Amino acid sequence: MIDSHAHLDSPRYADDRDALLARAWDAGVDTILSIGIGEGPDTMHQALDLARAYSGRPGVPKIYATAGVHPHEARLADDAAYAKLDQLLSQPEVLACGEIGLDYYYDHSPRDVQQAVFTRQMEIAASHKKPIIIHCRPSDNSTNAWDATLDMLVSQWSPTALGGILHCFTGEWNHARRAMDLGFLISFAGNITFPKAQPIRDVLAQVPLDRALIETDAPFLAPVPNRGKRNEPAWVASVAAKLAEVKSLTPDEAALRTTENFHRFFGTTVILENRH
Ligand SMILES: [Zn+2]
Ligand SMILES: [Zn+2]
Repeated sequence: MIDSHAHLDSPRYADDRDALLARAWDAGVDTILSIGIGEGPDTMHQALDLARAYSGRPGVPKIYATAGVHPHEARLADDAAYAKLDQLLSQPEVLACGEIGLDYYYDHSPRDVQQAVFTRQMEIAASHKKPIIIHCRPSDNSTNAWDATLDMLVSQWSPTALGGILHCFTGEWNHARRAMDLGFLISFAGNITFPKAQPIRDVLAQVPLDRALIETDAPFLAPVPNRGKRNEPAWVASVAAKLAEVKSLTPDEAALRTTENFHRFFGTTVILENRH
């Protein structure tokens, strides 16, 4: 399995990161994409640091990194942040720019600032020919952030043909379809295991199997039966199992197909290390 979105640099893992990665490997997680937003732009390098620190270490998953300024921290994006992002995206272990996008639920940064920072980061990602990982959350009972995000992707990102990932998808079918038309994959997180998440499962049922990814968004959003706890990459198995149920697959098929999708999209290679 691949956990396509985890915040491995979270301070909540400071005391047991080695053990947590070993648990992930033992659960069948070969690869983790560690999201490099840090605690803000000053620490967006931490995911790459982890990718390098664990590189080649046996008994833990292969770690790749991203780098980006989360919409929550858009107000902190300055020239130093953009220079740092530019430098990080030039590194081969940094597969994508993200998570970037729009969050109109919390509005931690003004919306016009979020949009400007999203645009600037798309320009930097395009200059490195790296795809983008999108965070999008609208206001309650609204699709405002989806409408704005998709409009910006159509006008500003589709000319690059680089595509990306909609992470922790919570939107409607038409949002997924519009993004897939632009070459995006749709990543599903632990919330697909929640009893009230039937609308998300209904979208998952429609998303073609070659367009779906699974993620934890750890340390957030732990899936059932660990809901409410600190999340960790090993528990992506619960997401795979729910995807399998919705798609009428075996859990192994769900793991294999989402793994293939990740490698096909990023041009990375399957881990061949013998587990036996
Ligand atoms: Zn997010
Ligand atoms: Zn995240």
